[in-house]
Amino acid sequence: MQSEQEVTIKPTVCPLDCPDTCSLSVETDGEKVLKVRGSKANPYTAGVICKKVSDYYPDFVHGERRLTTPLLRTGPRGNGEYRPVSWDEALNLVYEGVMRVVGTYGPQSVVPLNYAGPHGQLAGGSMDRRFFHKLGASLVDRGPLCGAVRGSAYTSLFGNAPGMPPEQARHADLIVVVGNNVTVSNLHFARTIKTARKKGGSLIVVDPKRTRIAAQADLFLQIKPGTDVVFFLAVAAEIERRGAFDQAFIAQWVEGFGAYMEEARKISLSEASEVCGLPMAQIERFINLYAAAEKVALSIGNGPERGHSGGSSIRAAMALQALTGNFGQLGAGVFAKPGLAFPATQARLQRPDLVPVGTRMLNIVDVPRHMLNDDINPPIRAVFLYNHNAVCTHPDQNRLRAALSREEIFIVGCDVEMNDSMAYADVILPAASHFESNDIYAAYGQAYLQRAEPVIPPLGEALPNSEIFRRLAARFGFTGPVFDATDAELMDAAYDPDDRRLNGHRPSELPLDGAIAMTAEGGEDLIMCKTVTPGTASGKIELFSRDLEDRFGYGLPRYEAVPGKHPLILITPSSSKRTNATFGGHVESQGPERLEIHPDDAAARTIREGDKVRLWNDLGSVTLLARISGDVQPGVLYSPKGTWLGTSETGQTVNALISADLKTDIMEGACYNDTFVDIEVV
Ligand code: SF4
Repeated sequence: MQSEQEVTIKPTVCPLDCPDTCSLSVETDGEKVLKVRGSKANPYTAGVICKKVSDYYPDFVHGERRLTTPLLRTGPRGNGEYRPVSWDEALNLVYEGVMRVVGTYGPQSVVPLNYAGPHGQLAGGSMDRRFFHKLGASLVDRGPLCGAVRGSAYTSLFGNAPGMPPEQARHADLIVVVGNNVTVSNLHFARTIKTARKKGGSLIVVDPKRTRIAAQADLFLQIKPGTDVVFFLAVAAEIERRGAFDQAFIAQWVEGFGAYMEEARKISLSEASEVCGLPMAQIERFINLYAAAEKVALSIGNGPERGHSGGSSIRAAMALQALTGNFGQLGAGVFAKPGLAFPATQARLQRPDLVPVGTRMLNIVDVPRHMLNDDINPPIRAVFLYNHNAVCTHPDQNRLRAALSREEIFIVGCDVEMNDSMAYADVILPAASHFESNDIYAAYGQAYLQRAEPVIPPLGEALPNSEIFRRLAARFGFTGPVFDATDAELMDAAYDPDDRRLNGHRPSELPLDGAIAMTAEGGEDLIMCKTVTPGTASGKIELFSRDLEDRFGYGLPRYEAVPGKHPLILITPSSSKRTNATFGGHVESQGPERLEIHPDDAAARTIREGDKVRLWNDLGSVTLLARISGDVQPGVLYSPKGTWLGTSETGQTVNALISADLKTDIMEGACYNDTFVDIEVV
């Protein structure tokens, strides 16, 4: 038993891959995280956090899966059989394994397979990047796994200028939420919506699934997955026909109007109704509400980007805001990319200048294919798997597992806990959790900069990511200030210390009990087309993108249907129990995950509530529990993502059913929601 005097409350920040980046208060006895609560240090998150962090984080840090010592594999790949080794031994093993590969195939045969497990600048991409850049490892484009399509859709219209911070939406008289299950994955925006509605604002939700926020909306459009672009193009043409465009705004701020509208006018409302599966009356109601509103705030989640026409869908939704002049005042705008408001100095932090000229860039979604097929030269022969439970998050899980099983490929793992991906590593380096590390946090769903110090010491022999890669750098003979940099020096490299928004603080000295608001010049609110100017070449909102035309052939948004060999579409959005695959090992995520199926589809297959069902296609097969629900449309199945392999009797999760070869229109992103399956009772 701890006495009360020994327990203290310490400030920190949630590092998970979630837009909200909450400020946290941790109750600790100096050794253990006892409780995690929200803190008011960040005025946007203001003391409220999600249940998964408050309920599951202590187990994540101190539970039986926690990695506390370096490990060497002793059993077959994927079995999880290891023995402890010292840090010296582990670093030697990594050095020898990697140098053997480099000696035979060259440094580009080494690939860092990491994503966004922790979002802190230090843990997420600092000394690790410097290490791989100096080594000459292949570069990896990580955005196609998630985020790049939405981000690039936004920047194609607005350039590198920050979008609307979420709290401004409380001033809107209409909020349109597209493909964003805010209750689960954008919690504080739900509160903003509530505030706006209390003041008389309306809410429209466009989503294939009747989420909790959709059920509360004034209008819910249950759209067929992947067809949003058709809807928004048709609506633009109709609003133009009604003379409801903001011509003055278009003249001042919009570029590419003519080419865009030429495309939009090709789609009639009745065509949109048919393709999108929406009744005409609902489309009409949307147009009436939208055209009548003076300040529309638009929020687009990650849902739309997970289909082939995802980039087009997002661009078309954002374009509607420009055509109707929904910028230039509080409450009107696009809630996207507030993260562009931070004075990040990524090149100083990650040192891309160390990358040898001519180093190749690999799409993260394609890395497993390259690993398995040796279809690039040099082939991949060493992989660093860190900050990323790839097995439970990548599409085409079976191909990835086959790739990770290749004994020719040396695999180094680095993570906080043992998971389905670490089980494939030859050597595992135990990472400290963010509660045990220094870090500095921007956010991708709000505009406050925050810093955190360790609230407990590292468990066992675990080390912060920055220190792990510092030691690796030393073992590989990379010396000098770049590789000796302390955590404080890394933080000071991550953001511009001279930026006015830091109020004279060095980044490494930001107060721990507050959050610094990223504002426009003069401390004003970030308002597109008022205090913020589009960062495009023209300085206007560009509806035609020369860049996307040249790179992908999608200068303008357009719809391309994806044909499927199976009758049902499976969508796999966020879970209320996991942040992607984080917390997937918690007891509450054990056992088969639910699969929501429409009553008509269930009846046609004599599936009853609670039946164990098998979902399958050419790529894999997974068992789930049927939940018969009117919240999904006929023809659409829904199951939350991020489960671990043990939850399904087939030892595969829904990710096994998702193609890694089908790509989005722009940015070659993964198409999680273009997954066609069949179903049967087990
Ligand atoms: S996962 Fe998101 S909502 Fe939950 S505590 Fe972290 S930042 Fe906040």
